[in-house]
Amino acid sequence: MLPRALLVILLLIVFAQVTPTQNSRIVIAASTLLDGKGHVLHNTRIVIEGSKIVAIDPKAEPVDYDLRGLTVLPGWIDSHVHITWSFGSDGKNAGGGVNTQEAAYAGAANAWSTLMAGFTTVQSVGSPADVPLRDAIAKGQLPGPRILTAVQPLTGRGDQTGSPDEIRAFIRNQKAAGADLIKIFAANSIRRPEPTLSQEQLNAACDEAKKLGLRTLVHAYKDAVRMATLAGCTEIEHGPLASDDDLKLMTQKGTWLDPQAGLVMENYLLNKEKFVGTPGFPEEVFPIIKEMIPIYHQFFTQALKIPGIKIVFGSDALAGSHGRNAEEFIDRVRDCGVDPMAALVSANSVAAEAMRLSDQTGTISPGLQADIIAIDGDPIKDITSVRRVVFVMKGGDVYKNRK
Ligand SMILES: [Zn+2]
Repeated sequence: MLPRALLVILLLIVFAQVTPTQNSRIVIAASTLLDGKGHVLHNTRIVIEGSKIVAIDPKAEPVDYDLRGLTVLPGWIDSHVHITWSFGSDGKNAGGGVNTQEAAYAGAANAWSTLMAGFTTVQSVGSPADVPLRDAIAKGQLPGPRILTAVQPLTGRGDQTGSPDEIRAFIRNQKAAGADLIKIFAANSIRRPEPTLSQEQLNAACDEAKKLGLRTLVHAYKDAVRMATLAGCTEIEHGPLASDDDLKLMTQKGTWLDPQAGLVMENYLLNKEKFVGTPGFPEEVFPIIKEMIPIYHQFFTQALKIPGIKIVFGSDALAGSHGRNAEEFIDRVRDCGVDPMAALVSANSVAAEAMRLSDQTGTISPGLQADIIAIDGDPIKDITSVRRVVFVMKGGDVYKNRK
């Protein structure tokens, strides 16, 4: 047994490492501050009290964190992750719905990596395993991003999915299980883009969610994009093979678009040995995944040409890409011609608006949560600097400070 005094010292060391720094009032000095809405402020200071930003005041003193020389911006929001999806102890893809103790630790580790990479809010779409992780983080028991989860997705299987009434009951069950939003699969893949839900089924799903005050995120390609838009669903995930007319209809209906520019596909290829042979990943799928990347790029550039299209940031982070979510910014700018500021804003104020969290996060403004990160570099000039997040504050607590 350890002597009691030594035990106390050890515990103090552990707490010093894991307990975020918390003062009642914190002042951050910034030489370059992106406000999350596309504006740049120079030589100013952010004043934080408790969990919230209370003022932007260049004269505020004393300075607790001097982040001059870095780029300071709101914590990022990833609209599409699978936070509990991990590799198992055999190093192979274990999916996102495993309920072992090991998988629970893996989910917590994913949350930590995501937060350290500058993502202070994520939307997980979804797995029932997300719920205890979301709740533990919300209670301050574990470090991680704020998590919103869809719990169990509605997976379209044609008539087998159920009648409109059965679908409505399924949506109500997700709400009862703690869903923050509803995830719907309305098509399979680019190779098999046929709708897997009828218009009537989609109408029922998105209408019931709307009645419950829940947003609907619909995995869709080709015709399913238009059908989900007509059904009044909130946001389209992925989207390739949709026509310009489908995209224009989305702008008329105010439907959000969350297309991907590469990270998810690159990750399957990078971690091929860990995915190959696991459900959904036979050897022959990998050359096809490689062929998909230019199709995603083409769709992204097609969407950018539609005036008024509302594009959010969603990386589709899963096993192997948690903590590398920001690679999706680089792909968007480098491979799809997205303006760097627009790419960043899509993960700040735009994502917050899409998630109806504008009154909580997404911008550096008084009254909002103090979700603040800093990058060693200028992401407007060099988008690859998004890999160098050296400071992370979430809700007024500092989790990383490596300036
Ligand atoms: Zn996904």
